[in-house]
Amino acid sequence: MKLAILDRDGTLNAAGEPFLHAPESWVALPGVLEAVARLNRGGWHVVLATNQPGLGLGEVGLGELNAMHARMHRALAAAGARIEAVFYCPHAPEEGCGCRAPAPGLMRQIAERYGAESHETWVIGSGAAHLQAGAHLGAHLHLVCAQTAAEVLSGRPLPPEFPPQTRTHASLAELVASLVPAEPLPPPSAPGKLP
Ligand SMILES: [Zn+2]
Repeated sequence: MKLAILDRDGTLNAAGEPFLHAPESWVALPGVLEAVARLNRGGWHVVLATNQPGLGLGEVGLGELNAMHARMHRALAAAGARIEAVFYCPHAPEEGCGCRAPAPGLMRQIAERYGAESHETWVIGSGAAHLQAGAHLGAHLHLVCAQTAAEVLSGRPLPPEFPPQTRTHASLAELVASLVPAEPLPPPSAPGKLP
């Protein structure tokens, strides 16, 4: 069993300030749909874990969130990709819950649901909180720097808020290429059989 727990904004789709509202504001980052499809074909379980404080703050409605995720699932399906489940913390930061990353509650729930051991769990995100939560699980930690963490790739050491075992990648696609071997090309069509 291999379980990938992805963050949402900045990892899968472009992040918005401060909250994404309209379904149309969910826009996949380049290459991520294909990367998720490649994980699926490699037999991985792929889920999302995301802090959604806009719900607890009354800034984002549950209907808006569900509509956005429906759009996300359609975009994934069109690319032959599937995210099995979306787990989110709906609380505002002041509520002090145990499921808002960097607290590990949400990720613990996911790992238990899937029966995934720490060595079978890859926590993949673009921000320190997601990776800190993953560090509590002892999971593999991977930072993708496509959008919000782009400055980390500039050759400077990883900022101290990131767990030291974090590995960095330019994009989700680059990471996935290292996790799932490329599929062999289909055999060439016989001459004269092309439509
Ligand atoms: Zn929470």
